[in-house]
Amino acid sequence: MLTIGTHMSIAGGIAKTAKNVVEMEANTMQIFSRNPRGSNYKNYSQEEIDTFQNIRQSHQFGALLAHAPYTMNLASANEKTYEFACMVIREDIVRMDALGIENMVFHPGSHTGIGAEAGISNIIRGLDQALTEEQNITVLLETMSGKGTEIGVTFEELKAIRDGVRRPEKLGVCLDTCHIFAAGYDIVHDLDGVLEEFDRVLGLELLRAIHLNDSMMPFGSRKDRHAPIGEGEIGLEPLLRVLMHPALRGLPVYLETPFDDAGHKKEIAMIREELWKKEQN
Ligand code: FE
Ligand code: FE
Ligand code: ZN
Repeated sequence: MLTIGTHMSIAGGIAKTAKNVVEMEANTMQIFSRNPRGSNYKNYSQEEIDTFQNIRQSHQFGALLAHAPYTMNLASANEKTYEFACMVIREDIVRMDALGIENMVFHPGSHTGIGAEAGISNIIRGLDQALTEEQNITVLLETMSGKGTEIGVTFEELKAIRDGVRRPEKLGVCLDTCHIFAAGYDIVHDLDGVLEEFDRVLGLELLRAIHLNDSMMPFGSRKDRHAPIGEGEIGLEPLLRVLMHPALRGLPVYLETPFDDAGHKKEIAMIREELWKKEQN
């Protein structure tokens, strides 16, 4: 069965968010690990956590995904920015792990002029002070579009990060379809080739999650603008092929498309129906 959900707001608390997932007829969700544009977070009462866990179990949610805030830049050469990023990833691994969330994804970061190599060594140090033997959660590096000075635009950069850390077994990858398309990986005409490349460089077993997004910007544009599924430059058919690909089957899928909950409910229903039609042929 397809594990599919969307990025959800946790403004009403985590139990309410899980209820909204059920209402949406989804079976997983992505949430921010804390305020995406700031630094604060809420602590949940035990009662709220219990309700959240009950909903999640009784509705058989698949793996959940936490997303680190955008303000976290582990590649930064600015001391304050870097210290903040180190603190956030260290704390949020513990906080999300305590909720039993399976995976936490982050944008590797932007080197802002110091070069990819120096940025990558900052990321490695930042991860080394955060990854622990005790954690159950897997930390996922997200494939990026390459806007500005972003790191993670090639599979090789993600590989260099993973190879550099002391606990590589705690790291996996989240593949964002909009980002890799914008980065110049042609999932429209050569999905097999892209996945072979991923397997050669990183190994497909490291893939833990898919961000399923269409792209408002053209192939190779290195611009990051998500479009609703089927309404962008990738298109519905290539995105359905991603979902049906034997190498990707079973991976949890998270939409990050520009809709509210009601819009996402329709989008998920549409995807399920289109997949069902394909499977009849
Ligand atoms: Fe992301
Ligand atoms: Fe994403
Ligand atoms: Zn994006």
